[in-house]
Amino acid sequence: MATRKAVGLDLGTTFSAAAHIDPYGKPQMIPNAESERITPSVILFDGTNVVVGSVAKNNSVAEPEKIVDFVKREVGKSKEQFHREFGGKIYSAEELSALIIKKLKADAEKYLGEPITDAVITVPAYFNDAERTATITAGQLAGLNVLQIINEPTAAALAYGLDKLDEDQTVFVFDLGGGTFDVTIMRIHEHTIEMIATNGDHRLGGKDWDDVIVNKVAQEFDKQHGENPLLDLQSYQDLQSRALAAKIQLSSRKRTAIVHHHNGKSVKIELTREEFEKSTRHLVEKCKTICEMVMQEAKMKWDKIDKVLLVGGMSRMPMVQALILDLTPSPIIDTVNPDEAVALGAAIQAILSMLREETVTGEKVLGDDTRQQFSSREGGLIQVIDITSHTLGVVLWDEKQLQEYVFPMIRKMTSIPALAKNSFGTASANMQHAVVKIVEGESSLPAECTPLGICDVKLPPFLPKGSPVELTYEYNANQVLEVAVEACGNRSKVSIGRNTGLAPEEIDAAMSGLSDLTVA
Ligand code: AMP
Repeated sequence: MATRKAVGLDLGTTFSAAAHIDPYGKPQMIPNAESERITPSVILFDGTNVVVGSVAKNNSVAEPEKIVDFVKREVGKSKEQFHREFGGKIYSAEELSALIIKKLKADAEKYLGEPITDAVITVPAYFNDAERTATITAGQLAGLNVLQIINEPTAAALAYGLDKLDEDQTVFVFDLGGGTFDVTIMRIHEHTIEMIATNGDHRLGGKDWDDVIVNKVAQEFDKQHGENPLLDLQSYQDLQSRALAAKIQLSSRKRTAIVHHHNGKSVKIELTREEFEKSTRHLVEKCKTICEMVMQEAKMKWDKIDKVLLVGGMSRMPMVQALILDLTPSPIIDTVNPDEAVALGAAIQAILSMLREETVTGEKVLGDDTRQQFSSREGGLIQVIDITSHTLGVVLWDEKQLQEYVFPMIRKMTSIPALAKNSFGTASANMQHAVVKIVEGESSLPAECTPLGICDVKLPPFLPKGSPVELTYEYNANQVLEVAVEACGNRSKVSIGRNTGLAPEEIDAAMSGLSDLTVA
């Protein structure tokens, strides 16, 4: 039996974390080499040495030109759209993310004393196809078999729900992290965790609150000294970390002071929680709108929510707790450790994925205790029912408007696996091919959606206009979309490589690009 060891990885915008399931079947955090339970997602390039974590973060002020942070905001972009250059080499967002994962993997191996082979990596629920695929690629580049990519709120829900599977309840997961905001409504019933609706903002998180403080201090500095301290990278980084510290202080204290030095001059600003809350009101309003949107999408009233689960470091802010009180009349707020729940949930999902693999292949890769622990009372597996976070559609021709439009085949928030069939007529007579354009997105305009692929079927000659073309979309649990087109007995099928990452030969080539770096 080939032994495998899986971890759950929370690849966060500001912090990352790893967790595993211990021999007693309990999810546990894996501390890093610095004995911390979470690792700052900050990379320092120092020649061929790469340092990830607190050491890199602590150097970000002294050596800002050697630092990369907030990579997660760039994941999914091509090398042309985003890259960073160090030592004459160009790194993509995937490669930079892979360096963070390499650090987590190496530290976990040291701590557990065994090689890590597999991982489940978490992503924000509304990550699109390119962002998910890039995350898988990052894991592969770090030398891991990526069992699955799961949504962060799903992971948090798993960590929260594991010992509550007997209680039927509807839970609203509010996850405000360093760079992203996710909300999810889920139902726990009969050993099943079912996602009902999800929404979020890719570019809303702790950094936006920090930036408000950064800009306030910079403006005051400019007013007093006629100089913008943000134009200097070092000063900017310094001010960013002071702002973050001030924000965290304001979660427990009513006032704080920020002192900033630059070019031999300094400025001191007193900031009260009340002022801070006023100047970040627009950000809280954004969160509120998204919460209301997801409730609308779920067609649910707040009194149907049994619990609000707060996740993400930013949910420690009193203004977030006040927002929840404002939204729901009598909320029962439950918390998981916001820094750890996502990684713990990913570790649980890793075991569930491997259990599923065992049933398919018949090969045992897990210990008996773990298997026992993760089966529900009826002997079946704990089930997680996820939903699609984007609509999968097909581009059709509108006869009346004389333009193309997107017809939704599998709508956003459909339970996975999903199957949809539809029949369409050919757009004109004597068409030789039916070319189906497959897209992802919520708009009815093809230009506003992301193209995923094409399925092309040959048609017999002399077909009249409106001849039927059968279209099937099948979206399986591994988030692979299969599209089949059938017309006049001819059939064609494509698998859209959603979330499958790189092919084995491509991984080898890409990994060699990182092989001359040592990561610590
Ligand atoms: P996460 O991505 O979930 O690790 O969230 C990290 C974000 O939470 C960062 O923006 C932190 O500054 C922020 N954060 C952590 N602790 C607190 C706190 N006590 N008060 C306010 N913000 C916090």
